[in-house]
Amino acid sequence: MSQVRVRFAPSPTGFFHIGSARTALFNWLYARHTGGVFVLRIEDTDKERNSERFLDVIYESLRWLGLDWDEGPDRGGAFGPYRQSERSAVYGEYLEKLRAAGRTYEKDGATWFKLIGERTEVFDDHRKKTVTKVKVAPTVIDDLIRGRVERVEDEDFVIVRSDGNPVFHFVNVVDDIAMRITHVIRGEDHLSNASKHVELFKAFGAPVPQFAHIPLILKQNGPGKMSKRDQGALVEEYQRRGFLPPALVNFLALLGWNPGGDREKMPVGEIVRLFDLPDVNQSNARFDERKLAHMNMLYLLELTPDRFVALARDYFQRHHPEAPALAADPAYFREVMLLSQPKIRGFEELPAYTRYLFSDEFSADPNVREKVLGKGDPKARLAELIAALPEIDFASDASIEAGIKALAARHSLGFGDYQAVARLAISGTNAGPGLTSLFRVLGKDRVGQRLQRFA
Ligand code: GLU
Repeated sequence: MSQVRVRFAPSPTGFFHIGSARTALFNWLYARHTGGVFVLRIEDTDKERNSERFLDVIYESLRWLGLDWDEGPDRGGAFGPYRQSERSAVYGEYLEKLRAAGRTYEKDGATWFKLIGERTEVFDDHRKKTVTKVKVAPTVIDDLIRGRVERVEDEDFVIVRSDGNPVFHFVNVVDDIAMRITHVIRGEDHLSNASKHVELFKAFGAPVPQFAHIPLILKQNGPGKMSKRDQGALVEEYQRRGFLPPALVNFLALLGWNPGGDREKMPVGEIVRLFDLPDVNQSNARFDERKLAHMNMLYLLELTPDRFVALARDYFQRHHPEAPALAADPAYFREVMLLSQPKIRGFEELPAYTRYLFSDEFSADPNVREKVLGKGDPKARLAELIAALPEIDFASDASIEAGIKALAARHSLGFGDYQAVARLAISGTNAGPGLTSLFRVLGKDRVGQRLQRFA
């Protein structure tokens, strides 16, 4: 078989959303899986709705996700230009071919594509006008995901509007022919267009590419397709929030595809190796932001300490340049970040999660306070801990634990009897890294001060 050529063909009419990213990813995966070519084609014929700004967002998001293209506006290639706004000459040429084949006519100032078949004029009650119905055999779409789909395309349709602008169906098919696209992988919302496209391919005498219409992404809660307005729908939001691109890629790959079994976390190379179009599900995939957060956590856990610390610093610099964390001693910053690495799901949690480690100005969470102070005799435990502090060895988590356990034993109590109140006193909360790690990182003096302040 000849080399696979796929394309991602976004229109720069809005921000880049999760659905587009998934379409781009499936094309990229298929190209890489087959050793094929991934083309980026910009469908920017709608002058009113396109903007350069949105085009930049497309480039930026694809690059951030690591979805590199082999041919495209910025890279060139043998079948360029790759922006439809620069391809009018090509469209003119192809229109001429259809004209010469007798497959077009002019009506109401527009150019129409003429279906082949017996024609009858009928009055359409709904549209309140006379339309030409054409007796045709159903158009067959052999879809790699949906299977065989039949649709009846029985009305001629406009391919060049009266203002001279060619319509989507026409330029889309012309470019797929001119760019030698072998597989059209796109969202299922385009399945309803596929019959028009197949008829155009046939009219040009061009081979019909393989179609693969991928299922929709349903919104997290409730029925319906995820839209650009839904929370969590935009790729740049994840970029801004400090998500790790490989985590998002892994998550997106699983929106409508799985390798069988219950494997979820997979390096991208493995996804490339296993991905194939017939394995894409027919049923719609539901977007689940918790699953994405969990995936991100799994990828965070895998980062080397150096990388985690560097990315964390970068996150603070970009989003919280005033944070006391950045003013802290770098070695201390590192210690705190490494305590946080196994505990957070995303960098965006870091500022709140580590706040009390970089500043003495924090107040106790009232609910936690009420809960902790309402049980046993926490004030007595606190006083005992303060008194014992000088003897506790702060060299390591283990020595701190041993010190607190020795104290507890003297009072016939356990480590747990000191834990909640000590944590509340030094952090204001009941969640966070292990107590002994917090003690060690804060150091004896600061721990002593905070215990005293709370006593
Ligand atoms: N420009 C179309 C879109 O953004 C592309 C359709 C296709 O992939 O064929 O939906």
